[in-house]
Amino acid sequence: MGRYRGAACRLCRREGTKLFLKGARCTSPKCAFERKAYKPGQGGDDRRSRRPSDYAQQLREKQKMKSVYGLLEKQFRRYVRRAERKEGVTSELLVQALETRLDNAVFRAGLASSRAQARQLVSHRHITVNEQIVTVASYAVRPGDVIKVREKSKEIAPVAQAAANAGAVPVPAWLQVDYGNLTATVVALPQAAEAGTVADEQQVIEFYSR
Ligand code: SF4
Repeated sequence: MGRYRGAACRLCRREGTKLFLKGARCTSPKCAFERKAYKPGQGGDDRRSRRPSDYAQQLREKQKMKSVYGLLEKQFRRYVRRAERKEGVTSELLVQALETRLDNAVFRAGLASSRAQARQLVSHRHITVNEQIVTVASYAVRPGDVIKVREKSKEIAPVAQAAANAGAVPVPAWLQVDYGNLTATVVALPQAAEAGTVADEQQVIEFYSR
C-alpha cells in the first residue's frame, strides 16, 4: 500500500499545527514549523486569511488525520467506510481502527520515535505479532496480541534508542510494554479519547457524509 513520500514538515506547515511526524526532531529547535511558521509555497506568509467554509474546515481536519497516520486518500477513505458500516459511533470506530494499525501500535508503545519509523520497522521484518513476523503496517492488532521486536533486531539504532528512552514516552492504557524484552501486549481496544489526535474526528466523518 502506498504512502505519502513528500516532505513531512510541509504537512505541518500547511495545516498550521505540529503533527509530530518526525520523532525527536519535532521537539527540537530544528522543527520546520518553529522555524518557518507560515504556509509553504509561494506567498505562503501573506495569503489573505478569511473565515474558512464548513467544507474547508472539514477538509483540513480530514487532511490532518490522514497525515498523522501516514495514509493516502484511498486507504483512509476505506477506514471511514468500514467504520460507517459498523454499529456504534462512527468517529470513535474510525479512531479505534486507525489506532490498532500495527505501525501505530509500535509507535504508541514507544518502540519507534514516529509512525514512519514504526512502519519501516514493520516492513523491514523487525516486528513479530504472536511470534510471527508481520510486514504489513496496516495489520490490525487485537486484545491479547503480543507485539515484539525480533531478537536479532534489538541492536538496530531506532530500537536501541527506544529502549534507552523507556518510560519517557506516555504509553496508552491499551498497551502494556516490557522495555526489557521490547515487547508490547495489547490489553484492550483503544478508546478514541486516548488517541489524542490533533484532528477533529467528527468533522472528518462529516466530510465523507457530504
Ligand atoms: Fe512537523 Fe515534526 Fe517537521 Fe516540526 S519537525 S514541522 S512537528 S514533522
